[in-house]
Amino acid sequence: MSIAMPKPSEAVLSRREEIVSALRVIVPGEGVVDATNEMKAFESDGLTAYRQLPLVVVLPDNVGQVSRVLKYCHENDIPVVPRGAGTSLSGGALPLEDGVLLVLSKFNKVLDIDFDNRCAVVQPGVTNLGITKAVEHRGFYYAPDPSSQIACSIGGNIAENSGGVHCLKYGLTANNVLGIEFVTIEGEIVRLGGKHLDADGHYDMLGLMTGSEGLLGVVTEVTVRILQAPETARAVLIGFPSSEQAGECVASIIAKGIIPGGMEMMDRPAIHAAEDFVNAGYPRDVEALLIVELDGPKAEVDHLLTEVEAIAGENGATTTRVSQNEEERAAFWAGRKAAFPAVGRISPDYYCMDGTIPRKELPKVLAGMKAMEKKYGLKCANVFHAGDGNLHPLVLYDANAGELERAEEFGNDILKLCVEVGGVLTGEHGVGVEKRDLMPEMFSETDMNHQQRVKCTFDAKHLLNPGKVFPQLHRCAELGRMHVHKGEVAFPDLPRF
Ligand SMILES: Cc1cc2nc3c(=O)[nH]c(=O)nc-3n(C[C@H](O)[C@H](O)[C@H](O)COP(=O)(O)OP(=O)(O)OC[C@H]3O[C@@H](n4cnc5c(N)ncnc54)[C@H](O)[C@@H]3O)c2cc1C
Repeated sequence: MSIAMPKPSEAVLSRREEIVSALRVIVPGEGVVDATNEMKAFESDGLTAYRQLPLVVVLPDNVGQVSRVLKYCHENDIPVVPRGAGTSLSGGALPLEDGVLLVLSKFNKVLDIDFDNRCAVVQPGVTNLGITKAVEHRGFYYAPDPSSQIACSIGGNIAENSGGVHCLKYGLTANNVLGIEFVTIEGEIVRLGGKHLDADGHYDMLGLMTGSEGLLGVVTEVTVRILQAPETARAVLIGFPSSEQAGECVASIIAKGIIPGGMEMMDRPAIHAAEDFVNAGYPRDVEALLIVELDGPKAEVDHLLTEVEAIAGENGATTTRVSQNEEERAAFWAGRKAAFPAVGRISPDYYCMDGTIPRKELPKVLAGMKAMEKKYGLKCANVFHAGDGNLHPLVLYDANAGELERAEEFGNDILKLCVEVGGVLTGEHGVGVEKRDLMPEMFSETDMNHQQRVKCTFDAKHLLNPGKVFPQLHRCAELGRMHVHKGEVAFPDLPRF
């Protein structure tokens, strides 16, 4: 691990047995796991280069237990890392040696489906796809669709404000969550929003909680918007001799006022890896591939398809192929959705980045990545949520050959370039551990102090998911007054990791 985590508290480590016993009283039966071999399953999330056994794993199955566990941890100064399905790619669910790993997987029930109000109330451990499965018999679905949707939990989606191919038209998690129940580190149970469409209260607390990466509270119930499936959806594959032309085509489609249901881009290495893996029907003789999906009433879809094909031609497309049936549409998407595991077959390891840029900067960023491939002697495959400028470069490396640190530096340079061209460090995977130390690339000290004041309001002792998101811990009372004068750091005892 090249990113340092906070030093574990000896006081907590030395009281492990006492802590485990106390937690067993709160969560009886098999809800507390403390055997090393059983905790191994939880030592990592999707950022698999980072591993750490937790102090203990706790799997509550009701909100009362969550509340009492958090209250106990607060009173005893024990850090807590919330975990859903553990698919985070930024290390957000990475355990801490002196921390309780609070796993929400037993919260797996759909509580209420309200077709009249077009919403569903679910527990946070329900998978993203599980929501669609629960409502599809009436022609409904849940729109945000991360590629990990068969596994990732809706609680994790809220914590990361997750996105997917359909978010260009239908919005991210933040735009599809109507309400939550969450528990504070002090054990208070709080409800925000609900089935009604307008926010309650003066501040947009629901907006604040969405994307808070487990740093502000533990989500225990979720109300989401469900949508009626469109009458028709058709996808078109468009191949280009260069990524620049594909990028121009994306910009032209949006400039024409067309908002596709999804608009994804893959470069040559990603196209070949995906095609070899799932036989999606992708052309192999192109440098860049767009998958554009149009959805809505049939007449509208047919008309927009013609327009998109014309725009593609104007931008130098060499192949276009429109899906003729649902099976073919699903096959087009299967390749894109399997792009990460497909790349996993051509390289011993890969490191998935997640920067977002203004769309028009794509050619510049692609050229920059090409130069970085030479600089670091590593290859990179690219998949993009092209419509919203969210890049997922996959840096290919071999951990056994000692290439991890080089891959991380490559990834850091990509993200710095994204910020340099006016973009941001993360589109949908969160900051977590992975991008924590890059936060100063994007935020000034003042910006970060303001963000940490929000954290302090919810969790003054910094017990919820410490070591994630913020590169330094500040004692809340001292926030904003920490300056380095001639190299002498004030409050030298504050943990800097
Ligand atoms: C192959 C693959 C493809 C992916 N594709 C996408 C994609 O297309 N789009 C996308 O956005 N992401 C994608 N991801 C990333 C990941 O799936 C998402 O970030 C997802 O939302 C994480 O959900 P989870 O349940 O696995 O959360 P975890 O990994 O368990 O946790 C993620 C974060 O959420 C916090 N958390 C979890 N549950 C709760 C809760 N109940 N209350 C408070 N905090 C909580 C954790 O502390 C952690 O900080 C992909 C991951 C993989 C492995």
